[in-house]
Amino acid sequence: MNTFYSLLLSQPVSALTGAGLYIATYLSFLSLLKYPRNWKLPSASSTLVTGALAAFTVAFVSVSPSNPEVSLDVSTMLFLSGFIIVLFGIVSSPAIDFNPGSRRVVEFFANFGDTAGVWMLLPALVGAYAFPEAKLQGVLAAAITVELVWYFRHKSTVKRHPYSLDEHDTLVLNTQAKGNIEGFAKRHGISELEFLADGLQWNGCNKNTLPCPFNLYTNRLGLNTAPCCREHMKDLAYYVSTCLKDLNVDYWLEGGSLLGAVRENGNLLAWEDDVDISFLLDDKTTWSSITKALSERGKQDGYYIDAFGGEGLISISYDRPLLWPMRWERNRMRGEIRLDLVAYRRAVNQGQAIVERNSKKGVLPKTDSGWYGLAEEIVFPTSTIRFLGNDIPCPNKPQTYLQTLYQDYQTIEYLYVSSEAAETRRSTDTVQ
Ligand SMILES: [Zn+2]
Repeated sequence: MNTFYSLLLSQPVSALTGAGLYIATYLSFLSLLKYPRNWKLPSASSTLVTGALAAFTVAFVSVSPSNPEVSLDVSTMLFLSGFIIVLFGIVSSPAIDFNPGSRRVVEFFANFGDTAGVWMLLPALVGAYAFPEAKLQGVLAAAITVELVWYFRHKSTVKRHPYSLDEHDTLVLNTQAKGNIEGFAKRHGISELEFLADGLQWNGCNKNTLPCPFNLYTNRLGLNTAPCCREHMKDLAYYVSTCLKDLNVDYWLEGGSLLGAVRENGNLLAWEDDVDISFLLDDKTTWSSITKALSERGKQDGYYIDAFGGEGLISISYDRPLLWPMRWERNRMRGEIRLDLVAYRRAVNQGQAIVERNSKKGVLPKTDSGWYGLAEEIVFPTSTIRFLGNDIPCPNKPQTYLQTLYQDYQTIEYLYVSSEAAETRRSTDTVQ
């Protein structure tokens, strides 16, 4: 046997190789989670890469090096496959739990998203004892180290800012909780709520804490957006608007944010889960120029920027970008405060000048080229509207824009809220 193979088969090197393969699989899996967080299906190529890395890790550990016939150790293979599936299930739960169709088991693991990974310590110890193989021990040690680091990073007691919930927030919370707010908070892991002698207190998020998982609270539980998150969404909207103005980009308030500005007198919808702005791609603003400029500014000012080229979507988050590879671990967070910046471009549809986008939005009509769009004159020249205390560009005909997007926009519809939570909520808001 030559020197290379004897080195590879030496115990420490085998363990280190196993650990390296696990870390690569883990990072690849984390990068996949950004898709469900943005309501998208992961791309086939990245899913394939993650699957191949996981399969290779399991194969590397399960093929016995001591046997020259290269025999497969089936029990090690089954144990490690099960271990990775359960651990990755736990890791991904917080990222997918806000989806209204999410299952109870996902919610259970998401509620304990900061700690549940550490529970795998016990199966890891049992596995390491039952299958005394250096390669397996390397993988298990790497997995548990990653979980311990994640756990201790969020164990630090960063000061949260206390907020009181206003009357409407409390009414909605009480209705969804059917009068038992404490039990409801416990069941759904609403850790921000504190019960004081003189009432409720909301311990708010900031840039140094994990964000409140308010997508879960608004979309699944039908609550109002948390007061801290509302405040950060306002800062984020102002920040992005200033950047776009500086970059001389044509942009306008879009979707639910425009609806809030028009229907709710310049406020956010009570259950808003993101801010929507759209912009025009043209000769002066190309996809690469805007993503590059925003990424650079975000890095400097402490905002995380992720671009989805195929969708024409730039997602800008309130949380601070960390250094790679910690950066991808943000996909394990249970919530985020985000602004969706969507690209439109000019086109001609049945002889009429339009602007169109790649992704579906509301009931925006399909265009000749198979995308989604509306007449250019509804958007340009843009006007301005009051939104969260600042003037921001909006479509030239905001009412027509909203009609094209949502038809009867004056009627309150609980978009993206689970049907059961929406039904309970409807009674609260009609009583109001
Ligand atoms: Zn918050």
